[in-house]
Amino acid sequence: MAGTKKKRELDLSAFPSSSVTEYSTLVCLACVFDIFTTQLGFAPRTAYSEIRKYSPTIAELTAPKAVRPFFDSNDKQAHCPYCNAAKRWHARLETVRIEGGKPTDAARRALIKKLPQKDNQFQVLETTSDKRATFFDWLDTLVRNLDLEEAGWLLEATRAYLARLEPKTNWNEVFEGVRMVRRSQRLSEGWEREGSRLFLAPPIYNEALIVQYLVSRSHVHGGQTLEGRLTLFELIRRLRYSSYLDAKEISGADLRLSMRL
Ligand SMILES: [Zn+2]
Repeated sequence: MAGTKKKRELDLSAFPSSSVTEYSTLVCLACVFDIFTTQLGFAPRTAYSEIRKYSPTIAELTAPKAVRPFFDSNDKQAHCPYCNAAKRWHARLETVRIEGGKPTDAARRALIKKLPQKDNQFQVLETTSDKRATFFDWLDTLVRNLDLEEAGWLLEATRAYLARLEPKTNWNEVFEGVRMVRRSQRLSEGWEREGSRLFLAPPIYNEALIVQYLVSRSHVHGGQTLEGRLTLFELIRRLRYSSYLDAKEISGADLRLSMRL
């Protein structure tokens, strides 16, 4: 969903926070015009009407690194990094990405219905992704939002994963004062808090490990997890008895793929 003018804040309180990601990018209309006329060979008048019809793709709106004609800047007086055009040529695009599924479907329909129609201010883009693509999208967002130099990132990654698993639970509250996350010897499902420790049922604990591994894969040699530093091989061996890989439809090939990202 993209809005060219942010006349009022969208009310997203009906959505579990783990299902919402917000993006913001600038588009340089001088660059767009140049691409349509110089590179694509449109006459100026045709270019103008094509540009009006053009709708940015989800990939363009949510790319971690913007490419021409898109650019990222928080500087109010920024000039276009490609053609140096001044501010009046720029339009800011705010994008809210809401993951579909049972916890969000009704609220999404209600939100879309309430959006102002005037001037095509808002645009709704829908895409279906398989579970695997959705998971890796979520993971990439998580990686960008975590500071891996901060000591608490392992707990933070675990909390984010649990929020994805159980969106209705208030995990900020559950994690208040938690200093340690452990594999539970008693629970077969769910979690429990005991003092400053949070115990997770083994399947959930294993999943948290793999998320930590994937988060840290680009940062260190061998992924860092609550169980120390593991190589991918060791991790997969530990997860062999967990149903994680099958349940998430992630194969070894995907893991190797994501290692290269
Ligand atoms: Zn430009």
